[in-house]
Amino acid sequence: MDTLPILKYPDERLHLPCKDVTIFDEHLQEFGQVLLRTMRASRGIGLAAPQVNIHKNIIAVWIEDVNPTPFIFVNPKITKASEEFFKWSEGCLSVPEYFEDRERAKDISLEFHDVFGVKQAIEFHDLHAFCIQHEIDHLNGKVFIDNLSQLKKERIKTKIRKLNR
Ligand code: ZN
Repeated sequence: MDTLPILKYPDERLHLPCKDVTIFDEHLQEFGQVLLRTMRASRGIGLAAPQVNIHKNIIAVWIEDVNPTPFIFVNPKITKASEEFFKWSEGCLSVPEYFEDRERAKDISLEFHDVFGVKQAIEFHDLHAFCIQHEIDHLNGKVFIDNLSQLKKERIKTKIRKLNR
């Protein structure tokens, strides 16, 4: 499997809750690679499993300019978040060509399993922290434009429909 299609807003499946991964086998390791490839093919820096219609707690993050290591986080949990904020023009591969300035916690502590089932804890900052918070929202069935006004959401839907034509 090379890449998977990315669900686009307002696909209802983006709002399904995800389940924890309990089996760390070669299928999970292969899926991690597919998730990274799919993200890279669309020039994203993060992608969550539900965006490719797999409703499990798995995210991919790769911000090559800052850190050459691609990350696959399985069952990620934020255990600490700073009160200080980091501002960024937020976007999403499921909401193509829409960006909005947002603030999210600048520093986070993240607990997760790697694809081999080893539990780890790492601190992330700035864009990494921002991106991880965005992806974890996806695992909870949230898309970053959910809280916009109905009017704004209708405009975004119309734009995405035109792009898909
Ligand atoms: Zn997203």
